[in-house]
Amino acid sequence: MQKTIPDKIIYLDNNATTPLSESVKKTILSSIEKYYNPSALYKESVDVRADVELARKKVASLLNADPKNIYFNSGATEGNNTVFNSCLFPLHKGKKHVIVSSVEHPSIMETVSFLNTYFDNIEVTKLQVDRKGRIDKKSLQESLREDTVLVSIMLANNEMGNIYPIKEFAQIVHEYNPAIAFHTDATQAIGKMDVNVQDLNVDFLTLSGHKFHAPKGVGALFARQGDALIPFIHGGHQEKNKRAGTENVLSIIGLGKAAEEVSHLSEADYLKTSQLRNDFEVRLQKVIKDAIVVGDTENRICNTSCIIIPGISGKEICAYVSDDKNICISSGSACDSSDLSLSHVMRAMGVCQMPIRVSLSSETTSFEIITLLQSIMRFVNMRRKNK
Ligand code: PMP
Repeated sequence: MQKTIPDKIIYLDNNATTPLSESVKKTILSSIEKYYNPSALYKESVDVRADVELARKKVASLLNADPKNIYFNSGATEGNNTVFNSCLFPLHKGKKHVIVSSVEHPSIMETVSFLNTYFDNIEVTKLQVDRKGRIDKKSLQESLREDTVLVSIMLANNEMGNIYPIKEFAQIVHEYNPAIAFHTDATQAIGKMDVNVQDLNVDFLTLSGHKFHAPKGVGALFARQGDALIPFIHGGHQEKNKRAGTENVLSIIGLGKAAEEVSHLSEADYLKTSQLRNDFEVRLQKVIKDAIVVGDTENRICNTSCIIIPGISGKEICAYVSDDKNICISSGSACDSSDLSLSHVMRAMGVCQMPIRVSLSSETTSFEIITLLQSIMRFVNMRRKNK
């Protein structure tokens, strides 16, 4: 992939969002004059419809899915809401139990808490995690009930990068009762590990384009049983009556291109990124001996490093490295970053200090990592000397 970030900026916040890749940009620009509505009947529209369907094939191919099971939408937030609505409606049909992990993204946690607050026939079990953010499969087994309709556990976590054993979890759930839907939020997994819906055997999977070099505001939902979907947005007949509204054609075309690009990534690419990330952690811990790596270091996506430096808040480190060397990192999830309190993910793990999150891309260089290390060290030395 060609470099897309201006040299002055060191961008290490790829779990928050990513820049458009050069080929996604080019693909979108080459379609920029195609303003026709893909649902119209003249030949220009037929061409645009073909572009949308080609993008669907590319997303499907990335996930090893059938294109007919792919629904375009505005991203993972919408996809997650759609899955919960689809599984928990109609509300009049008795009690419904849903299981989620306690480290899901707010687009799951807030949806579940909304449904739980407003509808008294919905009950929620939140699976606890240990200090490394791991979920014990026994706790999933023990939480399943006769009235469970949905289990939703993410494939990879946005804050500390943990990968969850979704294949095993989906098997446990389906063996207990094949009618229970299993959903995984794969937003942070795409482009950082292989994702195969047949192998995972999930019923629903959600993703967002802007996490892998497509535009913001476009995503896709995989639904094994499309008929089971209840539209979250009502109106026209787009997306086989499951998602109304004229298609976001240019972004969908960009999403297709991005999906094609990341489907060429291999274990060797993931390994290259993880070696750079590991190198960062080893060097940091050599100098700052009490620095702690948060999460399941045995099972993480290749690009994510979540670090605590005791006594120094992640927020302060982020501000310093930004001022010092134009380095973009975050102090946990972008969704929580305007909030000064600790995220629900860190609290669930028993972490009581704000970490820093460094999230690499396949473009990240060792020069960038060394510049970050030096900047962090300057700040930590300064802070600790002044104590
Ligand atoms: N799930 C996860 C794990 C995420 O990291 C994000 C984005 N931070 C979302 C869902 C929501 O994605 P979007 O904001 O693109 O809807």
